[in-house]
Amino acid sequence: MIIETYSPQETFAFGKLIGETAKPGQIYTLIGDLGVGKTVFTQGVAEGLSIKEPICSPTFTIIQEYESGRLPFYHFDVYRIGDAEEMEEIGYDDYFFGKGICLIEWANLIEEILPEDVIQVEIRKDLEKGFDYRKITIQG
Ligand code: ADP
Ligand code: MG
Repeated sequence: MIIETYSPQETFAFGKLIGETAKPGQIYTLIGDLGVGKTVFTQGVAEGLSIKEPICSPTFTIIQEYESGRLPFYHFDVYRIGDAEEMEEIGYDDYFFGKGICLIEWANLIEEILPEDVIQVEIRKDLEKGFDYRKITIQG
């Protein structure tokens, strides 16, 4: 499925829809260049899960947990991870195979430990279609 957005508000709204419809145990991977809108999308997902606290980027902590919503929300950013072994150290399988929603930025770096049934989300720009245009591809 491909969704095209023309403003951060539209990307947020699409993330919110994902958060509203997410089922327990679902894992989303999120791929896209810096500044493409991954955080905007993630904030929408959190809103859709009725999470009240602000979403901070977990770049230095690898994972941020939010428990105030409809379901637990585990926001990963694995950009700084050396290898999948580091994921073992943080006990990733409790999150991946639990009842909450996982969203993993830069998931391509830990491909070998991802379950097969993840939903992949990719956000891309296309400057020919305008500065605020984003193409969001979702599959799985
Ligand atoms: P990332 O987390 O991928 O590095 P951010 O979500 O932090 O990116 O930032 C995206 C930036 O792009 C924000 O400044 C946002 O206002 C802007 N932007 C412009 N158009 C869009 C759009 N259609 N969707 C999402 N963000 C957009
Ligand atoms: Mg970000």
